[in-house]
Amino acid sequence: MDPPEPWPRSGAVPRPETLERPIETLPGVGPAVRRKLGRLGIATVGDLLAHRPRRYETAAEERTIATLFGEDEAVLDVVVRRVSARRRGRLHILTAHVADATGEIRATWFNQPWLEPKLISGTHVRMRGKQNRFGFQVSSFDLGDAAETADFAPVYPSTADLAQKTLRTLTDEVLAFARDVGEPLPADVRAGDALPLRADAFVRLHRPRGEEDAERARRRLALDELLTLQLALRRRAREREELVAEPLPPPADLAARYRDVLPFTLTAAQEHAIEEIDGDLARPTPMQRLLQGDVGSGKTAVALYTLLRAVEADRQGALMAPTETLAEQHFLTIEGLCAELGVRVALLTSSVTARERRAAHQLVASGDVGIAVGTHALIQREVEFADLAVAVVDEQHRFGVEQRAALAEGRSPHVLHMTATPIPRTLALTVYGDLAVSEISAPPEDRKPIVTAWVTEERSSEAYKRLCAHLDQGLQAYVVCPLVEGSETKLARAAEDEAERLRVHELRGYRVGCVHGRLKTADRRAAMAAFKAGELDVLVATTVIEVGVDVPNATIMIVQEADRFGLAQLHQLRGRVGRGAEQSYCLLVSRHRDELSETATERLEAMVATTDGFELAERDLEIRGEGQLVGARQSGLTDLRFTRLRADRDLLERAKELADAGAGEELLAEAVDRLLGEAEHVGES
Ligand code: ADP
Ligand code: MG
Repeated sequence: MDPPEPWPRSGAVPRPETLERPIETLPGVGPAVRRKLGRLGIATVGDLLAHRPRRYETAAEERTIATLFGEDEAVLDVVVRRVSARRRGRLHILTAHVADATGEIRATWFNQPWLEPKLISGTHVRMRGKQNRFGFQVSSFDLGDAAETADFAPVYPSTADLAQKTLRTLTDEVLAFARDVGEPLPADVRAGDALPLRADAFVRLHRPRGEEDAERARRRLALDELLTLQLALRRRAREREELVAEPLPPPADLAARYRDVLPFTLTAAQEHAIEEIDGDLARPTPMQRLLQGDVGSGKTAVALYTLLRAVEADRQGALMAPTETLAEQHFLTIEGLCAELGVRVALLTSSVTARERRAAHQLVASGDVGIAVGTHALIQREVEFADLAVAVVDEQHRFGVEQRAALAEGRSPHVLHMTATPIPRTLALTVYGDLAVSEISAPPEDRKPIVTAWVTEERSSEAYKRLCAHLDQGLQAYVVCPLVEGSETKLARAAEDEAERLRVHELRGYRVGCVHGRLKTADRRAAMAAFKAGELDVLVATTVIEVGVDVPNATIMIVQEADRFGLAQLHQLRGRVGRGAEQSYCLLVSRHRDELSETATERLEAMVATTDGFELAERDLEIRGEGQLVGARQSGLTDLRFTRLRADRDLLERAKELADAGAGEELLAEAVDRLLGEAEHVGES
């Protein structure tokens, strides 16, 4: 393939606004494609431009049929003679007899029935694949120009129903806007570091001449985003220098009583985190601490301790969760303990009547309530506190948390951020820059690692048998429904239908509840409470149970069509079991092996191989080949699209130097705003 032409210089100034254009302004993007792109987080032209290939096809040799050799990947240029198709179980096999000047061979395609009518006799096909005992197994092909079979063709992160071909064609379209990205780095820096222009980097990222070319482009874009992050951290730090907080007196009676009422002894890791937190609370500057710990490690107990320290000082605490469901779960968890301690807790939700809400807000404003629990959005926007001393922020984007001057006029609360995103500590320190980090590195001792098994759907009845065996012992279970395409409403409907189906089939005779995102708050709360109280045996759910749900008696989970979920999501879901001393199980049911993509298979294998969040994070990096870590969405690392955190340490250092020198400050100001501002909207969706 010839390298792409350098992009013609129009001489015009960049027009960044073109990057904001909705994706449906591109030819060929109708509602269906728009929805599919939406699931990849692509809504605008700029999003697509920044959709980084996860890898590139390696260079493959052009061969003739006569010179095909062994199992090496090769490209053939052939003409179709005749075609036939058959089925084997769920597998559709398309066979074409194809020929070139040197001979004839059988080419096979799996599960692409729509292709049959296109392969009429005499059609010219360029195809890439490998010879095996069935003939030539086609991995990609082109009926027209070589886009799929070309060397270094980009392979994009995608979903099963969105073809690489579509993404490649659309990317070609948006490369026309590459000039509009502008150039944040001054010429001398670019020259000194031998960096390509930002616009060129985008073109090369999508259409590289080779691996090296692609890597150079990626690193240029990684430097830009790390610089943006550093500038954002600096701006935050400057803003924070001006903040003061009232130090809290040392822990006293309430803290001691808390340890007494807890049904367990805090682990050494938890006590260590508490010690660090106590140190922060004694200072006249606001605490800004990140509490890291894998799912089930026991962060909530530490969070509640921190909140009680505020109450002990006759002040208030707020616990902020990303969703209402999670806020409700937190409330249920801490309410009982707080009642024993005589501490009043209020749950603030947006879904009660206006009058009830006013009453609750009134209690918070008067100081009658010691701890308020609600969503980030609600607490930040609507609630006045009499005297807020401590805010605990659960699983929110890295930014947008510390501000909120309105939380306390003139004084800022001490803030504890909680995250289950496993990021190696050293890395967290560099990326989070200005946050202190506490880590709960080991789960409570009584924990047995969750046993995870993967079965394909024809064996799902065995999975349900196992689940029922747990139920018969008085234990409880979750069944997670498949991710279905479409709206939240459609997802909810599918979950309801599945619950109904299970009630008459696999789970007949058991008490089966159902929760999803479309339930009325009261109904969802009732279902959760019933499950927690043991009045339901099984909870059929969508991913609304992904975070925060804590029912130690639930010891087994079936995830249906687990191949559709991301690794981070699966890890979070699995974390709903294994929360007590009982041995717990997670059964991943996938579609038939032949229907699974390479990455889906790798994800499921990784889940079976380990329960360690850090290991899964690393594995996820390898599988996806990109700088996103498990659960990155909640950590603020979302924005690191191009960075490979492990490989790009040098770039991080360079970005710090450049930020110190003020490089890019002006041109990246908007990106920094976006990075800092975006967070304020997280949790509202
Ligand atoms: P996460 O870190 O995922 O938020 P949680 O705080 O919800 O974890 O704790 C998970 C489970 O472990 C809860 O049921 C909690 O009661 C229990 N737990 C927490 N700390 C301990 C401990 N020190 N010993 C025994 N169980 C604990
Ligand atoms: Mg939790």
